[in-house]
Amino acid sequence: MGELIAVLFRGLIFLFLFLLVRSLLRSVFQGFRSALPDSTPRRPPAVPTSELKRDPVCGTYVSTAASITGKVNGETVYFCSPECRDRYRAR
Ligand SMILES: [Zn+2]
Repeated sequence: MGELIAVLFRGLIFLFLFLLVRSLLRSVFQGFRSALPDSTPRRPPAVPTSELKRDPVCGTYVSTAASITGKVNGETVYFCSPECRDRYRAR
């Protein structure tokens, strides 16, 4: 009878340790998960810094973030495509 209690007791300790480790792992994993979305929005979004510039070749308005830039006589000019930039430089 004493042996049975010892086996049960050992089983209970094992179960307790198993549950403890599992809850510990889960909280660590959840902490890791909640830390992830926090670190990403810290980066300032690039969109509001861009502004619209007029392509001098075809007249299209392009955002400075997405446009092709070319330095012409020390001045930065924005183009919708490399073709427009080349045409502007060829003038
Ligand atoms: Zn263009």
